[in-house]
Amino acid sequence: MKSIIILGSTGSIGVNSLIIAKRYGYMVEALVAGSNIELLNRQIEEFSPKFVYVSNPKDIYRVNHNNIFSGEDGIVELLEQTQSDLVVNALVGYIGLAPTLKSIELGKKVALANKESLVVAGEFIDMSRIIPIDSEHFGLWYLMSGREVSKLYITASGGAFRDWKIEDMRSASFKDALKHPNWSMGNKITVDSATMTNKLFELLEARWLFNTTNIEAYIEKKSIIHALVEFIDGSTTAHFAGVDMKLPIAFAINGEVKEEILKPVNLLEIGALEFKEIREERYPIWEIKEHLLKNPHLGVVVNASNEEAIKRFEQGRCTFFEMSKIVLNSYKKFENIKVKDIKDIISIDKEVRDYINL
Ligand code: NDP
Repeated sequence: MKSIIILGSTGSIGVNSLIIAKRYGYMVEALVAGSNIELLNRQIEEFSPKFVYVSNPKDIYRVNHNNIFSGEDGIVELLEQTQSDLVVNALVGYIGLAPTLKSIELGKKVALANKESLVVAGEFIDMSRIIPIDSEHFGLWYLMSGREVSKLYITASGGAFRDWKIEDMRSASFKDALKHPNWSMGNKITVDSATMTNKLFELLEARWLFNTTNIEAYIEKKSIIHALVEFIDGSTTAHFAGVDMKLPIAFAINGEVKEEILKPVNLLEIGALEFKEIREERYPIWEIKEHLLKNPHLGVVVNASNEEAIKRFEQGRCTFFEMSKIVLNSYKKFENIKVKDIKDIISIDKEVRDYINL
């Protein structure tokens, strides 16, 4: 029987991945969660995994299972015990990197939602083992037809504050940033959408996945078009699909999809479509876009500083725009770093976090 491992099973992508895994008859070999023990217990009951992980050892007694891993290296230790060829990595943040690397080392394929893995260490990840779970990269892949491409485009919704006055954004709260206009997603990616860091990350992901820096992002408020491909003959094709991650997840898990996963889009309901430029005054992080694409090894700096900035914003220790300032300031400070291997990535990640938390 086909089997699968789901890292981040209690999150937005994790829950959808389990729905798709069930639909295609996968046995779920392992479930990895953070602290949502209630949902994890329900998933254990439904999917009977052989191995389970929870982040805090103190939670082990609350988990209804007798083969539980925990603690800092626990996910990697769990992976070493597994047989499945396919891992869905739907962990959020830098903690997703080590499991991505370990899965590849073990010869597994990784259906990768954890975009931070590619942002931080794309250079050291074997892309032939990666199937991206992201609507934009899925859209690009779907559109590639073997013809010669001249440029790639992905779209952004604009995030929670796209229609706010810039003066009001200055005092926006964490809670305000979580009100995404189109998508229902985990907290971190929702804040990253509001600052446009998420789109910056997706450009970097595309750089590794499609081996090009000729890629642009524009705002398309309806989030119906996820990606466009421009060909050398002057044609541009667009990928339309509903706002639901089950479609990219189904392709990532099953390889091929021959039945309806989403309702087709209703063109008359969509009506007019509009594309807009991403402007630095509203999304200051955009300032580093070109430089970062040319220097993708700096992804580790952007990611570490962004994760620390989000923590501060959540704790009310910085404002919405100060998050981008923290990232831009760290970017300047660490602009000249050299990265030779994963060891360097790990030490730079720590150095950046220490610098911010001095
Ligand atoms: P969520 O916050 O909804 O889920 C994150 C998952 O990671 C949860 O299962 C959480 O567990 C788990 N987790 C967090 N910390 C730990 C830890 N220390 N140890 C073990 N597990 C942990 O995020 P999303 O599902 O929205 O996003 C996941 C990834 O996918 C992100 O990298 C995001 O950028 C990417 N992505 C998401 C999309 C979306 O539509 N949501 C679209 C494209 C990419 P728990 O909840 O139990 O604490």
